[in-house]
Amino acid sequence: MRIGFIGLGNMGAPMARRLLAAGHAVTGYDAAGVEVEGAAAARSAADAAAGSDAVVTMLPDGAIVARVYAEAVPAARPGALFIDCSTVDVASGRAAAAQATAAGLLAVDAPVSGGVAGAAAGTLTFMAGGTAEAFAAAGPLFAAMGARAVHCGTSGAGQAAKICNNLILGVSMIGVCEAFALAEKLGIDPHALYDVVSTSSGACWSVTSYCPLPGVGPSSPADRGYLPGFAAELMLKDLGLGQQAAAETGAATPLADAATALYRAFVADGGRGRDFSAVLPWLRERAREG
Ligand code: NAD
Repeated sequence: MRIGFIGLGNMGAPMARRLLAAGHAVTGYDAAGVEVEGAAAARSAADAAAGSDAVVTMLPDGAIVARVYAEAVPAARPGALFIDCSTVDVASGRAAAAQATAAGLLAVDAPVSGGVAGAAAGTLTFMAGGTAEAFAAAGPLFAAMGARAVHCGTSGAGQAAKICNNLILGVSMIGVCEAFALAEKLGIDPHALYDVVSTSSGACWSVTSYCPLPGVGPSSPADRGYLPGFAAELMLKDLGLGQQAAAETGAATPLADAATALYRAFVADGGRGRDFSAVLPWLRERAREG
């Protein structure tokens, strides 16, 4: 396929490389002038979309996706497929898809899980929203860039699933960090606690795959000086999208509210650029209030 790829940042560039490796012809565009070897370089988003069978976007937020769609959608050929892999709020995801479908295009919102390493290895999970026809059309591209694609429902459902997943992740990571910090104060060997929790009812991905303590459990960013991995400010972004979705729908999310406040404080207090699991050493330094 001829694919326009817009947004060649930490995630977009390795995803574009996977499409090239699968034999697709890629034309890339990034506002910062980034280019990917093997891909043709477009001068604008419209240029990347013109003549393409599919357009993939991997951009920072919903406002930028709206600006890029305003340029790219009118330039696309009828019937082209638009896949937005950016993580954005549900309303922005739906609005972008509605603009594309109104212009006679197929649209899917398909945010990803798996991070930069998953993008490079082609093992991302896509959480997709859109019609069955659009999801099926996106199948070969999901297969080139990822290991799994889940059709979550109609337009916006991919963003909704991603937001809910990361709400669980943010809350569970803080819970794991609190437990390991408390265990230290109680004098429990962290390896012993890991052995118990990883095989007990407290087990969760934040312990078993991403233990926030260096030298405990499988290799994780904690073993690499808390270099991301998944940066704390990206976790804060996703928790913010969860807060927005909760406010819009009236859902009660008391623990996600607390997790958002905690990650906001951590990012402002040295957490920016560190892995989101580095909330453990940060918590360790904080004495109990009250
Ligand atoms: P990034 O900042 O590295 O890349 C974004 C790119 O978009 C930049 O290169 C920027 O120059 C480009 N850009 C901005 N405005 C543009 C425009 N108008 N036209 C064309 N290009 C434009 O960010 P990233 O880490 O690659 O993340 C991209 C998206 O993926 C975000 O929505 C993020 O939340 C999501 N995500 C990131 C990760 C991760 O681990 N980095 C994991 C899952 C999801």
